[in-house]
Amino acid sequence: MTDQRPVLIAGGGIGGLTTAIALGRKDIDSQVLERSAFDNEAGAGIQLGPNATRILGPLGVLDVLMPKTFRPEAVWLFDGLSGKKLATVPLGDTAERRYGAPYLTAHRADLHEALRAAAANARHVTLTPNFTVASIEDGGGITVASLDGPSVQGSALVGADGIWSTVRKWIAPEASLSFTGATAFRSLLPLGSLTSPFSEPIVGLWLGPRTHLVHYPVRSGEALNVVAVTETGRKEEGWNRSAETETVRANFTRWCETAQGLLEFAPSWRAWSLFSLSALPQWHRGPITLLGDAAHPVLPYLAQGAALAIEDAATLADHLDAARGSPGAAFQAYERVRGVRADRVRRTSQRLGRAYHMGDAGLGGMARIARNAILGLRGADATLRGFDWLYGDGR
Ligand SMILES: Cc1cc2nc3c(=O)[nH]c(=O)nc-3n(C[C@H](O)[C@H](O)[C@H](O)COP(=O)(O)OP(=O)(O)OC[C@H]3O[C@@H](n4cnc5c(N)ncnc54)[C@H](O)[C@@H]3O)c2cc1C
Repeated sequence: MTDQRPVLIAGGGIGGLTTAIALGRKDIDSQVLERSAFDNEAGAGIQLGPNATRILGPLGVLDVLMPKTFRPEAVWLFDGLSGKKLATVPLGDTAERRYGAPYLTAHRADLHEALRAAAANARHVTLTPNFTVASIEDGGGITVASLDGPSVQGSALVGADGIWSTVRKWIAPEASLSFTGATAFRSLLPLGSLTSPFSEPIVGLWLGPRTHLVHYPVRSGEALNVVAVTETGRKEEGWNRSAETETVRANFTRWCETAQGLLEFAPSWRAWSLFSLSALPQWHRGPITLLGDAAHPVLPYLAQGAALAIEDAATLADHLDAARGSPGAAFQAYERVRGVRADRVRRTSQRLGRAYHMGDAGLGGMARIARNAILGLRGADATLRGFDWLYGDGR
């Protein structure tokens, strides 16, 4: 007989909430155990490629989120030192026609609230706030105890508890996170006061030695999200500590005036040290598995970490539905499919990071000149086609 207890989900972030909604659509009960009051989303932007919006649409999340999003018309690439525009990659109608789903940008808090609202209204979903998963027992079902003492029982457990995952420590205690030496600084600016190219309806991507800068509108175009990534900084946990304006600007002193001008507008900065995870021998152990950043954190150079978590959620729900009563078999099949996809995104993100950060002297300088020339020569549509494997329905 099928176990009637819910699938427990540790972590009510982007991946955990999407999993609960996707399971609900298959009439599978779940209980989301979240350490916060579901209100912990820090102020920053997020890009949602068609591979993510294709899943969020049918789950009813886009209906709520869409009015708060922005649909950029293109990515414009610039050389950060010279300020020269290098290339345009079309998004907007072109991407939506090609992939059958829109490319959007959003404020993370708006995405998280749309997911929370959809989960709260979904059948088969129980949201449990202020529950910090502390220990796990696997025997005749799963028992998860919280830091405060109370425990809950379920038929299976999905660890969607982010990069510092507690569930991962249980599945792969030997796995370790290491600081990459890079930091992402993030700020939110009122868009009204800015001029071109920052006021354009685009994603701007500025490349420079050991640094790059990304900006795009969020909140239906009211604010500009700015991310400055530098190969500097300290190893610190958490993604929302404050950073001195001078610390950020010091990394851009040799950049063109236009880009430096944007940094001067930023009222404040939050910093996030970037970590990578050693390869896991496996993501699952019997009826317990990992999802999203808990399983495969990726560097943000391809803007795909959240999209991967959303894809994981949809695939996991498909496999749990297909193998009812056998979560272990479902999780094995899920990991087989998702491991390949996540690894390709991880490797591509690393490669892009190296290309973004090419130097300005010696061999690095020559590589930068070659990169800029190649970007200029490649047609706009050809560049977008290069992402078909990612934005198409390849999960
Ligand atoms: C600078 C930067 C920019 C990025 N931009 C993009 C982008 O544009 N597009 C994109 O797709 N991705 C982007 N990402 C990546 C993306 O933010 C993450 O990959 C995504 O948030 C992962 O989702 P998740 O659900 O796995 O984890 P999280 O969203 O981190 O959620 C984990 C949840 O688990 C909870 N939790 C943790 N421990 C416990 C516990 N013990 N018990 C209970 N609950 C717990 C937390 O409170 C949290 O709610 C970016 C990342 C960075 C650093």
